[in-house]
Amino acid sequence: MSDITENQIQHFFINAMVADAFGVPVEFRVRDTYHVDGMTGHGTYDQPVGSWSDDSSLTLVLAENLTHHGSPTTMMQRFVAYLQEGEYTPSGTTFDVGAGTSRAIMAFIKGTPAEQSGDRSEYANGNGALMRLAPLAFALVNEPSVDVRLHDEQAYTTTTHGHPRSVIASTIYVELLRALLRGHSLTDGLATAHRMMERCRFDRDEYNYFDRIWERDFAQTPVTMIRSIGYVVDTLEAAIWLNLNAESLDELIIKAANLGEDTDTIAQIATCLFSAAHPDATVPADWAKQLVHTDQMDTIIHDFAHHFATTVK
Ligand SMILES: [Mg+2]
Repeated sequence: MSDITENQIQHFFINAMVADAFGVPVEFRVRDTYHVDGMTGHGTYDQPVGSWSDDSSLTLVLAENLTHHGSPTTMMQRFVAYLQEGEYTPSGTTFDVGAGTSRAIMAFIKGTPAEQSGDRSEYANGNGALMRLAPLAFALVNEPSVDVRLHDEQAYTTTTHGHPRSVIASTIYVELLRALLRGHSLTDGLATAHRMMERCRFDRDEYNYFDRIWERDFAQTPVTMIRSIGYVVDTLEAAIWLNLNAESLDELIIKAANLGEDTDTIAQIATCLFSAAHPDATVPADWAKQLVHTDQMDTIIHDFAHHFATTVK
């Protein structure tokens, strides 16, 4: 049995937010046309150094929602405050919100039920649900019922991303995070998540989109075969591949930010996996001290850590 401590959870959030902020200035840049190896500012969105984006904002919303025993509906109500009032942002203004997420929030505002607000079309499989789901793994770490876990993974995905492929991606991600938080190594965690996924009745054609991450030699995939656009399958593959190919958290974040395209989201998701697998991992202090802090974010992280610190059963 192991403990998930408040300190570990706080580092988990800060690591992920630093990774997001590290990637923000180079989002959409073309791979191999630039190199970044430290925290920078401005760039793509002309935001000051340490500014975190939608990935962190939406993660904070879910964290607050889980701490307060909310539902997918109350999460969407908080998303409205994010989109319209700049709540949960570093500077009070929303930048870099994904198309799928913003369309879903608008549908919710117009009266669509929360769990049906996400676009169900095949072409709406961006990584906008994946980027916010990490807190759910802490909430489900001691949940023994697969049915309960599948229900929550699906319900918190379809609020913004309604296609089965997005639901499968979210399920793999949360189950992998959960296995890592329960003390499995990355290799064992992948095997555990794989066994669990094989028992579920997902649409086979959709599930097969994720074949590559289960292959034994996936780690040896050349970087040229790892795509880093915002497509949910590519994002999950890139995040897992980075974890199989980095010795340290700073190496992982630098590699992620230099993949090009969706640098912030891939860095953030990869960092969540790394932090779950390495409870003591922290980003370099000179990166962390450049992260923009808000009272709201510090409160959400503190309260979530206090609420979800636990002994793994
Ligand atoms: Mg972003």
